[in-house]
Order: sequence, then structure tokens, then C-alpha cells
Amino acid sequence: MTVQPSHLVIGGGVIGLCTAYFLGKAGQRVTVIDRDPSGDTGCSQRNAGMVVPSHFTPLAAPGVVGQGLKWMLDRRSPFALRPGLNRSLWSWCWQFYRHANRRHALNSRELLRDLSLESRTLFEELAEELGFTFVRRGLLMLCESAAGLHEETEVAAEARSLGLEAEVCAPERLRELDPEVDLRVLGGVWFPRDAHLDPTAFLDALRRGILRQGGNIRSGKVMDFRKSGDSVVCALTAEGEELSAERFTLAAGIWSAPLARRLGLNLPMQAGKGYSFTLPQPTQQPELCYLLKEGRVAITPMGDKLRVAGTMEIGGSEGVINRRRLEGIITSFCRCFPAFKPGDFTGLEPWSGLRPCSPDGLPYIGRVRNLSNVVIAGGHAMLGLSLAPVTARLVVGLHAGAANVPRLDPARFGKTG
Ligand SMILES: Cc1cc2nc3c(=O)[nH]c(=O)nc-3n(C[C@H](O)[C@H](O)[C@H](O)COP(=O)(O)OP(=O)(O)OC[C@H]3O[C@@H](n4cnc5c(N)ncnc54)[C@H](O)[C@@H]3O)c2cc1C
Repeated sequence: MTVQPSHLVIGGGVIGLCTAYFLGKAGQRVTVIDRDPSGDTGCSQRNAGMVVPSHFTPLAAPGVVGQGLKWMLDRRSPFALRPGLNRSLWSWCWQFYRHANRRHALNSRELLRDLSLESRTLFEELAEELGFTFVRRGLLMLCESAAGLHEETEVAAEARSLGLEAEVCAPERLRELDPEVDLRVLGGVWFPRDAHLDPTAFLDALRRGILRQGGNIRSGKVMDFRKSGDSVVCALTAEGEELSAERFTLAAGIWSAPLARRLGLNLPMQAGKGYSFTLPQPTQQPELCYLLKEGRVAITPMGDKLRVAGTMEIGGSEGVINRRRLEGIITSFCRCFPAFKPGDFTGLEPWSGLRPCSPDGLPYIGRVRNLSNVVIAGGHAMLGLSLAPVTARLVVGLHAGAANVPRLDPARFGKTG
């Protein structure tokens, strides 16, 4: 069977759905195809739901490699590298190492700030249009150690130099900001412009919005493409379908890398596996979202529930749950939020997601060179939700003829061999 949408978006995670919604608003007839349209197999469904202009430092940042090496010796730490005989992993690590320096961080911070701030504004508009709850109370970065607080105080100063609000807080101020929770920390930094939402509610709202626009969301696994001249003419599915379209957006998360290879594009990407738990009846319910500096754990209130998320396992694979990492998340959380006990997590099903991580910590958003009608949108690592609306806006512009932003160009690591 041959279907003819004008625009085929491959991947129904937060990037694909947001892009489809924005394309729909721009008058395009859109079909989203996902191997599992429920979204359960992707990374977007049960993440920490944070919208974070405070995250202007890319994943590849100074000090990250040294800290990562130390963490690798601790099986409960928030970071792991799954080594193997995988050439692409080692090549990714080498690129990551080359970018994890101050110069790259300084060169990236204005770009990330601008993308995040625009995305936040778009979230406000989307919340009005689509009717999901967007909580604008800020984020508290909590520090247990003097060294951690010192580092975050420097980040706060850097944030202010970039025009972002950031307040260094003693424990009394933390209590004022969120009186309902007990915290056992040395202090923290409040980023009042950060926000949070329930990602499942956001994705559902996007799906409803796309359907209301007359778009289509369907199941199918794209395996390859057929090209003619400088265009892709159809996507070929594992189910034997040929899906024709005038334009294509590839937004299949970590799985975009093998599909990009079919288009002649080298898209270095590694999975950064993370986990989350959702406490259905939390002992205390914070009003803000939190990050634990030392434990790298994210805590987000979602209605009556509380989500606790963390861990970055580079090279992690689908379906495998690492119990020690889960223990690490729970221990860090209970240490800083003493009203909670590890027993609160007994019987809760952990969720895991594979963050699509580029080696320079910047997303891939741009047209594929030599192909006039394909745009790539992915590689957002831990910022995929936060940057989804601005990504969608950029994709619409790229399909309308805007030039690639060089720092985000999917071809910045070269073509396939
Ligand atoms: C624990 C955790 C917490 C996080 N917290 C935050 C946060 O607070 N804020 C934030 O901004 N980000 C956060 N992130 C990161 C964020 O979740 C990701 O960056 C984002 O979900 C990536 O979205 P995506 O659409 O690119 O990929 P995905 O959500 O993985 O979507 C890709 C989709 O493509 C589909 N697909 C794959 N292959 C094919 C194929 N061949 N054909 C058709 N469909 C296919 C998949 O089924 C999937 O639905 C977190 C991640 C984790 C793991």
C-alpha cells in the first residue's frame, strides 16, 4: 500500500511530535510514524519533565571526563560507560574528550541559552493552546558539599553574566522557597526561570493537537529510504510499506543514527541511559523541581505524584535495568530529602530511557546536505524536552529554506565512509 502525506515525521518522541505539531500549524499535512506510537519505547515518556534555561553548559564540559573516570569506579555512581568492542563508541568517546573543554563550553553557552529561552517562551504559548500544565516556579540545584556549592555559585555568576536569574541560597532561603519539604543540604542555587511539566501529559496534548489539525499518527518501523536525484521519495518500512512524502524529518532519537547512515550521513550518537521512578503518594510534595548536584538526581512534582530520575550510562542498551544504579538514585534522594525512605520505592517499576547524546553535547538540527527535502532533529541528550519547541520551530524554517546553523549542522562530524 502506498500512502502520500506531504510530510513524514519519523519518530513520535517529544521531538517528532512537537515538530509534527508545528508543521501542522504551518499548514503541512503531516504523518508521524513510530515503531511504537504509544511512545513507551522512546526516551520522552517518563523523563524528569524539566525545562531548563539554566542548562547552558553542554554535556561535553570541562571537568566531566575526570569526574566520569572517578565515577566509573563506583557502581552506584550516577555515571557509567559500558565499554565494548564497539568502534563507534570509542570514536564517540574521542570526540567527546576533544570537546570537553572550557573553549567549547564558552562557545556553546550563548547558543544553548538562546535556544532554551526561546523554547521556554514557546512552552508558555503551547500550554495555552494545548491545555497542559506548565509550572513556572523555577529549579533548585541542591548541594551537599562545600565544593559542590562553590562550583554552583560559580555557575550562578556565569548565569547572571548571561542575563539569566540565579540566586545562591542558604538552607533558610531554601525552606522559604519550598516550605513543605525537609531538605538536608548545605545550600543551593535557585534558577527562577526554569520550569517543569508532566511529559506524558505534554505528549498526549501534542498527539491530540496533531489529530485535531488533521494529521495522522501511525505505527511502522522505518528501515531505509528510496532516493531520486537530490530527494528522498519514500521511506521503506519493516512491514513492507513504501511511504511517499514531499518532505521528511528524521526524529527517531538514538535510532536516528543508523537511519541517517542510510542517507549517507555520519551522525555520531551514543545512548545515555537513565532511569526514573514515580512515587504515587509521596510523603512530602515539593512545589519546585530539584537537581542534586552530587548525586545528579532530578526530582519533579507531577500533580500528586513525584518523579525521581537519574543516571547516565553511556552505551547503555534497551531493556536492561542496572539495580545498583537504581540504588544510587534512591540513596542520594533519601539522603537529601530525609522524610523519604528507601522502602518508599519498594515495588515501584523503574522506567528507563536512552538519551540521544551527540559527542559535543549539542543537538543535530539541520538539513541533510545533498538532499533537498530531509531534515534531521535529534541528539538533544538531557535537553530533549526542554528544547523540543524551539527545535520544532527551527525544523519548520529549515524545510521552508532557512540555512543550517553551523554549530547544529548534522554533518559537522563528516559523511559516512
Ligand atoms: C531519566 C531521564 C530524565 C530526563 N529528564 C529530562 C528533563 O528533565 N528535561 C529534558 O529536557 N530532557 C530530559 N531527558 C532527555 C529527554 O528525555 C530526551 O532528550 C528526549 O526524550 C529525546 O527525544 P527524542 O524524540 O529525540 O527521542 P525519543 O523519545 O527516544 O523518540 C524517538 C522515537 O523514535 C521511534 N523510532 C525509533 N526507531 C524508529 C524507526 N526505525 N521507525 C519509526 N520510529 C522509530 C521510537 O519508538 C521513539 O518513540 C531525560 C532523559 C532521561 C533518560
